[in-house]
Amino acid sequence: MKQQIPFFVPWITDEDEKAVVEALNSRWLTGGPKAVEFEKMFANYIGINNAISVNSCTSALHLAMRAIDIGPGDEVIVPVLTFAAVANAPIFCGAKPVLADVDEKTYNILPEDIMNKITDKTKAVIVVHHAGQPCDMKEIAEIAEDNRLHIIEDCAHSLGASYVGRKTGSIGTTGCFSFYPTKNITTLEGGMVTTNDSDIARKMILLREHAITKKAIEREKEMGWYYDVIDLGYNYRLNEIQAALGTSQLRRIKEINKKRIEAANRYTARLSKIEGIIPPYAAPNRVHVYHLYVIKVIEEEFGLSRDELFVKLSKQGIGLSVHYTPLHLLSFYKKTLGHNLGDFPNAERAYKQVLSLPLFPTMTQEQIDYVAERIMKGH
Ligand SMILES: *Cc1c(COP(=O)(O)O)cnc(C)c1O
Repeated sequence: MKQQIPFFVPWITDEDEKAVVEALNSRWLTGGPKAVEFEKMFANYIGINNAISVNSCTSALHLAMRAIDIGPGDEVIVPVLTFAAVANAPIFCGAKPVLADVDEKTYNILPEDIMNKITDKTKAVIVVHHAGQPCDMKEIAEIAEDNRLHIIEDCAHSLGASYVGRKTGSIGTTGCFSFYPTKNITTLEGGMVTTNDSDIARKMILLREHAITKKAIEREKEMGWYYDVIDLGYNYRLNEIQAALGTSQLRRIKEINKKRIEAANRYTARLSKIEGIIPPYAAPNRVHVYHLYVIKVIEEEFGLSRDELFVKLSKQGIGLSVHYTPLHLLSFYKKTLGHNLGDFPNAERAYKQVLSLPLFPTMTQEQIDYVAERIMKGH
């Protein structure tokens, strides 16, 4: 019997609803105690000194760039197989994103290609823990240290993932998280930026709110209305309603990730028997939290191409996606960075083969089995 299985279904509980309504009836609505509570709980969970709530991961990445003084003339290395916001963050600051190829098994940035792309102008590397699996942080940390680069971790997929016992977002100079609806927890839109560096934290807090400071000069000390603007700031706050939802969701993160991992393991047990379907590779020494479950379709063995399987499963009511079109093949980056087909062979090959299957915490075993069975019968 045909079933409808969406790619993603949000998981909002009665507790979440209660938290939202309570925040809606509070005095503050924005810039109040709920955001502070969420930040404290988040910092504690990640194991870091500072967590700063923001209105998106894109804002978090932008603040991270500003906090390490990225500007015109600078280069920031980013993976080519990822979301546009990652390459945009340096561009927002007038700097140049320099694309690096990815590993064919994990889709994470290749340490060797970071090495290849370093110039005198390179100031930082943004590493994306793709699908929820941490990057090769030991190798990357060594390269960063030798070349005096900042590591900015994009943890949009990887809340709760860890590398040799350390949570992602606590390893680089900063960690940037997303709470977009499909991510491991949601505040509808929202994000968080983490750091152990107190100067960087101060700068990001300042820029998040228009770079306004209340520190009055001597003459105006008595005046309650006085404020100064000391830099080019933004309005990147997370409001109280979002923060209350975030706190409520974060209370369940262990359960959420456990369900994701169990679903992924069930998929893998079923799909690894199918010729031409390669389940996700799990690298050693790390906890993968499966924001995405990405298979590879090997056309010569499976009998159908990824595109053919995509169309076939879509017609059977299964929601699917492809993560991602390599950045150098998208119009804007083609125009601004001037790359050609063939420049990133691993990412280009992966792009033709990868398929993201439905995965969400409330997905039932029957739903997983249905998807696996449709793939099995697909060829
Ligand atoms: C979702 C995502 C972002 C952007 O997050 P927003 O909160 O929507 O701004 C950035 N990087 C990656 C890898 C993402 O998946």
